[in-house]
Amino acid sequence: MTGILMRASNLTAVYAADSGQDVPAVDDVTLDVPEGQIVGLAGESGCGKSTLGNALAMIANPPLYVVGGTMEIDDEVIDLSTLHRGANEAHRPYRGSTVSLLPQGAMNAVSPTLRLRNLVVDVMRAHKPDTTKAEALDRATDRLNMLDMPTRVLDSYAHQLSGGMKQRMVTVISTLLNPKLLIADEPTSALDVSSQKALIEMLLAMVEKKIMRGVIFITHDLPVLSMVTDRLAIMYAGKIVENGLTEELVNNARHPYTSALLSSVLDPTVETRTKHVLGIPGSPPNLANPPSGCRFHPRCPFAMDICKTEEPAFLQERDHDVACWWANDHAYETVPMEVNQL
Ligand code: SF4
Repeated sequence: MTGILMRASNLTAVYAADSGQDVPAVDDVTLDVPEGQIVGLAGESGCGKSTLGNALAMIANPPLYVVGGTMEIDDEVIDLSTLHRGANEAHRPYRGSTVSLLPQGAMNAVSPTLRLRNLVVDVMRAHKPDTTKAEALDRATDRLNMLDMPTRVLDSYAHQLSGGMKQRMVTVISTLLNPKLLIADEPTSALDVSSQKALIEMLLAMVEKKIMRGVIFITHDLPVLSMVTDRLAIMYAGKIVENGLTEELVNNARHPYTSALLSSVLDPTVETRTKHVLGIPGSPPNLANPPSGCRFHPRCPFAMDICKTEEPAFLQERDHDVACWWANDHAYETVPMEVNQL
């Protein structure tokens, strides 16, 4: 694990459906976060990226069950397969300090009944009982300064803040314990551009100062990811299909799904007015009954017979992993993007 902060191996998480059938939303995923790096996780809605984020943050509430996998961090191997109802407490010591979740939906993430200064103290003491009130408020003030927020917000209740302020306050709370790894799930979606900038700068500064040692940044906003991240992992239908250095992936997509995602992004250029962007034809599969072989084959313009029956294994090319039969046949070739556009 030299140079690797966190390695998740063979992680599988399912939703228990009323029908009695388990729906695998994350299927045998392996993912590394190198020391001091920000790893982006992208894919369409419903591809499993938030479920993966929750599993890595060791938060699994029914109907979500993590049924397999380990997390290796700082030479400690944590069994995630016991992360389900009744066993959540076993992972409590890791939450907040080893790994912390900056959740989606800031509106619902902050207690409405506490002034934020009391909430901050409660959070710190829940994980570190010896923390004094002054220490907790100092830590919160440091984070607020990084986000250009006035410290007087600590005197407020959550309902007195705007959506953007609430999102940033959740960022403060989720980083209070200086987590080794932060899972940031759509952290910028509810923010205006200047608040987005402040939040991203805070995450970068915390990694640079080694307050945090790695971040997984989940979003479907590829332009944000390409600016912020060192590496990108692309998820489709519960699996990671391509993974590599961000610059390499953006300029040399080797998986047709990555290429289709990239070509669905509108650049703010004059040409955009005349360019017809198709998006990705079709829709993501039902994970209760995913397609055989490569799960992207019903939507893939490069699909071959083998794609319908055999799941492609990961091919490693330098620092770039891809699971695709087309990539197997076209070593180092970039997927032709024009296939996705008119
Ligand atoms: S394995 Fe086949 S269907 Fe899947 S992305 Fe590659 S070419 Fe397309």
